[in-house]
Amino acid sequence: MVNMKKYLAILSSLILYASGSYAQSQDIKLTFVGDIMLDGLPGKYIKAGKDPFLSFASLFKQSDKTIGNLECVVGTTGKAEIKPFVLRANPRVLPLIKKYFSAVSLANNHTGDYGPQAFSKMIDLLDKAGIAYFGGGKDIRSAHEPIIFNVKGKRIAVLGYNIFLPRSFEALDDRPGNAWGEPDYLAADIKKAKDFYGADIVITYPHWGWEGDKIASARQQFLAHLMIDSGADAVVGGHPHVTQNIEIYKGKPIFYSLGNFVFDGFDTVDTNTGWALEMTINQDNKITWQIYEAKLDKNGIPKNKGVIKGPL
Ligand SMILES: [Zn+2]
Repeated sequence: MVNMKKYLAILSSLILYASGSYAQSQDIKLTFVGDIMLDGLPGKYIKAGKDPFLSFASLFKQSDKTIGNLECVVGTTGKAEIKPFVLRANPRVLPLIKKYFSAVSLANNHTGDYGPQAFSKMIDLLDKAGIAYFGGGKDIRSAHEPIIFNVKGKRIAVLGYNIFLPRSFEALDDRPGNAWGEPDYLAADIKKAKDFYGADIVITYPHWGWEGDKIASARQQFLAHLMIDSGADAVVGGHPHVTQNIEIYKGKPIFYSLGNFVFDGFDTVDTNTGWALEMTINQDNKITWQIYEAKLDKNGIPKNKGVIKGPL
């Protein structure tokens, strides 16, 4: 009888091992957030020694990789471009980015706000701080390179694109800047991520759409479909300052906009609500997800309100 008990105990632990804990530990968790603006009130908050990401620290910690969009220049140099809003954060914000983010996207309509030289210096600051970035570079070639994460035996490529004006922030052969999401480039970059870099999973992270629109535009949809038709496994967008619809296209998810994550100066419920997207990739490359709601306070600092229930 004793031996039988022992046998059953071993058997049940083996079943547990096979069905639950082992499989789970091989799952890859990626967390994506939206637009992170560290000038203005969030900049002052950080200057005062406070941590704008604290409410999401435990979610980030349970993720294998954390990705966000750095929606400002970081630096102290350059001349402001003539445009409605120019955003530049002090380099004191860098240790906080390093602490929480595996990589940040530079592909947006603000990283060029102080000109290409300031953009280039920001890259030097990020390199020096050991912060990985994508969607921007010292020339067009490097701007279009994916970031590759090697996680639990898989290679995950993330590509960042700016698709919102001004296009003058685009990297050229001889100009630092961001990667512009031209259809031909998108298709070629995604193919290269798979064929040349051997990525198992490719995720695009575009900055696009009309501000305030809760539903993605026809152009966003056209480009998202093109990305998936070209081989992307998921599309995660930002910029409109509000969250947008989710679409499943050919079995692949498109999150058109995650909305604001750290950003001040907005006064509606929609603009002060963002999403942290926790994506899970299993061993068969199947993607599932859940969404945590971020409520931004008057300083533009997010509070984690937990998983959103029900249909989105
Ligand atoms: Zn933007």
